[in-house]
Amino acid sequence: MGFAQRHLLGIEHLRPEEITEILDLADQYVELNRRDVKHSDTLAGLTQINMFFENSTRTQASFELAGKRLGADVMNMAMQASSIKKGETLIDTALTLNAMHPDLLVVRHPHSGAVDLLAQKVNCAVLNAGDGRHEHPTQALLDALTIRRAKGRLHRLNIAICGDIAHSRVARSNLILLGKMENRVRLVGPPTLMPSQISEFGVEVYEDMAEGLQDVDVVMMLRLQRERMDGGFIPSEREYYHRYGLDADKLSNAKDDAIVMHPGPMNRGVEIDGTIADDINRSVIQEQVEMGVAVRMAAMDLLARNQRAHRATQTAEI
Ligand code: ASP
Repeated sequence: MGFAQRHLLGIEHLRPEEITEILDLADQYVELNRRDVKHSDTLAGLTQINMFFENSTRTQASFELAGKRLGADVMNMAMQASSIKKGETLIDTALTLNAMHPDLLVVRHPHSGAVDLLAQKVNCAVLNAGDGRHEHPTQALLDALTIRRAKGRLHRLNIAICGDIAHSRVARSNLILLGKMENRVRLVGPPTLMPSQISEFGVEVYEDMAEGLQDVDVVMMLRLQRERMDGGFIPSEREYYHRYGLDADKLSNAKDDAIVMHPGPMNRGVEIDGTIADDINRSVIQEQVEMGVAVRMAAMDLLARNQRAHRATQTAEI
């Protein structure tokens, strides 16, 4: 059975074969995106609405570009300035948009679970572009594609996810995906930034960077997500950088060919040293951005195919 989803709400709903199918198709879109003429009419005639209730630079731009390259009509709703401010509920906003007959709804929301709720109220495909600290599925998929292309495989790798795990939907989606694909994942960071239900994930946890990075193939750094912190989780940024900031010395514990990743936005001198981030022999941070567009094209393509099939059966039943 191929990719069978109607929405992309989280990695938790995907089977390993579905993950592989998205990545295989994304590989083809990487080729398209490297051509002079980067255009296909896969989504021609379809309407994509991007609703971002939280600020975003790269994710929104990436979804917009992905839709445009596939020929969709793309609209960005400035949700910060919208009727939400006038008291409209999320569901009312969704129903209003639904009446405009979108085919793809891309949603980012500060509350975990808000995107799932919305998907139940509309009759188009919904893509989660990040909900609270819950999931950010396209980020995990683009990370997976970057790893697969750099390492030649996406299984039996040692991967360290480092930093502010507790507040990170990126960490959560990656943990689920990398686990499903049978990798060994370690979490590295101060105990105050580890989620409380960590034992559920069956991962190794390290407090010390040198130990945690020992012989890993992939080092994934995360931003300190201050907007989700409601107290003193770290002593000071200086102290944090000293203990957990990725520099050449700490990285020397990883394998010689280990790659360095970061989902962005990056805080140089806090969780990562600028020289490491810019080192083209180690850092794949720019590749992650490139893979992001391709993965989003693949996800929207597959969802649109399922939607067409679903609508065809509904019409046949009438
Ligand atoms: N851009 C990612 C997210 O939206 C990571 C971050 O903000 O630190 O979750």
